[in-house]
Amino acid sequence: MRKKIIAANWKMNMTNGEAEAFFEKFLQELGEDRKVEVVIVPPFTALAKAGELLRDVQNVNLGAQNMHWEKSGAFTGEISASLLRELYVHYVVLGHSERRTLFGETDAIVNRKVHAAHANSLTPIVCIGETLAERDAGKVEEVLATQVKGSLDGLTAEQLEETVIAYEPVWAIGTGRTATPEQAQEAHAFIRGRLAAGWNAEVAAKVRIQYGGSVKPSNAGELMAQPDIDGALVGGASLDARGFAEIIQATRALLE
Ligand code: PEP
Repeated sequence: MRKKIIAANWKMNMTNGEAEAFFEKFLQELGEDRKVEVVIVPPFTALAKAGELLRDVQNVNLGAQNMHWEKSGAFTGEISASLLRELYVHYVVLGHSERRTLFGETDAIVNRKVHAAHANSLTPIVCIGETLAERDAGKVEEVLATQVKGSLDGLTAEQLEETVIAYEPVWAIGTGRTATPEQAQEAHAFIRGRLAAGWNAEVAAKVRIQYGGSVKPSNAGELMAQPDIDGALVGGASLDARGFAEIIQATRALLE
C-alpha cells in the first residue's frame, strides 16, 4: 500500500561534473523499473544540473537538504521553499541530525519549516532519532514521541499523509553501525503508533517512514523487508552510483 521511497542525501558533496557522471551510471543501473520511488538530494549548487538531467526521468525526484521557513527577505545564506520550487524540487529534508546538532535546530524550528514546506507544495522528509546516550538510558520512546509531536505539531491529517518521516538513530549515521532490523522495526512501529494517537490510525497507516543510518547494499534487503519500514534515507552509500542502485534493486526484489 505504501510505495517504498529511497532517498540519496549527498550532504556537502558532489560538484556538477560529479553529479553528471553519477547520473550517467546510476540511470543505466536503475533501468526502467519504477516500483520504488527514488529521491536525489544534492547540495544546492547541484540542484539545477540534477533537475535538468532528471527532467524526463519518471519517479526519480529531486529534494533539497534544508530550507528557511520565510518566503523571502533579509536572511543571508538561506533559501526559501519558493526558490527551491523554481528548480523543480519536490522534497525537502528537514531536521536532519546534523542540522540539529551542528546548527542548533530544535523541534520548534523544524516545525516552522515543515509548515512552510506544505504551504509551498513541497513534501517534507522529517528526520528524527535518538542519540546513543539516549538509547543507553532507555529513552528511545520518550525522545521519539517528543520529536514527533514537536516537529509535526499542527499538521492536518491531509498534510501528515503528504509527509515522509525518516527514523535515523544518530549513533548509526555515518558510523558504519546499523540498527538491527528488529531495533529499526520497533522504532518505526512506535512512531506509527504516535501518529495514530496524535492524528488517526487511517492516516498513520499511510505515512511513509524511512530508515536511515549506514544503509548499504548488504543490509538494505533485511531492513526494507520490515513491515513498518517504507524506504531509506541513505548518506555515504548514495555517493556511489552502483551501490545506490543496488540498494534500490534490493528493495525492488522484495516486491517481486
Ligand atoms: C544520513 O545522513 O541521513 C545518513 C543516514 O547517513 P549514512 O547513510 O552515511 O549513515
